[in-house]
Amino acid sequence: MQYQGVLTKMQTELGKPIQYYLVFEDSFLNMNQLLNKEIEINFVGFECLNCHKKKKIYRQGFCYECFYSSPAVGDWIMRPELSTAHLGIADRDLDYEQKVQLQPHVVYLAVASEIKVGVTRKTQVPTRWIDQGATQAIAIVEVPNRYLAGITEVALKDHYTDKTNWRKMLQNAGENFDLIAEKAKVESLIPPEVQEYFYAQKNDLYELQYPVLSYPTKVASLNLDKSPSFQGKLVGIKGQYLIFENGTVFNIRGSEGYVVTINV
Ligand SMILES: [Zn+2]
Repeated sequence: MQYQGVLTKMQTELGKPIQYYLVFEDSFLNMNQLLNKEIEINFVGFECLNCHKKKKIYRQGFCYECFYSSPAVGDWIMRPELSTAHLGIADRDLDYEQKVQLQPHVVYLAVASEIKVGVTRKTQVPTRWIDQGATQAIAIVEVPNRYLAGITEVALKDHYTDKTNWRKMLQNAGENFDLIAEKAKVESLIPPEVQEYFYAQKNDLYELQYPVLSYPTKVASLNLDKSPSFQGKLVGIKGQYLIFENGTVFNIRGSEGYVVTINV
């Protein structure tokens, strides 16, 4: 059976284990059902997720022009503390930025390898954690806009990393931590204007289970620019990565905007 479409990050469903779906325009694939099966991925071309033209992808699924003009990829996405919609100040498109920035955001601690701090819109819980391959996560504060979440993250970056070590995450080389105890420790570290939003009582610890049959001891990343055709046996899915038997890993999110055929 052959599927064809433009790659976008896999959709997920919280479960034990998490369910993953690759969604194309007129079909979708439940990736969990492909575990232990040979699949073939072939690069066909590009399609920018924003303008839909067949232009080479520059970053995050966008062509060069869209990456530097679309409000969906402003600097405040990666650096929430640069958000200015709460002040009525535009970066690229104030309407868009108000819609995205002026809504409840959560600052969290998550473990994919070490404990990391991060920011997400509340509607993206637990999707964001699944996308990072976190095995544990807990919200620390819920604030009314992205800026307040950003300055909280900045304050906590002195104590925790804000990056996921994707190799360790894929090798399941992380440890377990007591995130409830860790959360209690950070209360005094968050900025004064965020103190009132600290989740003092709420201790909703998420523990996430991924569909992985075996973890690789060595990982090599599949890059469709260099290897436009790949075949292998799928042995796991974690974060936004497909894990193959020979240690090849394929970051679906890193290949957004790539048009592929998938043979199963
Ligand atoms: Zn474009």
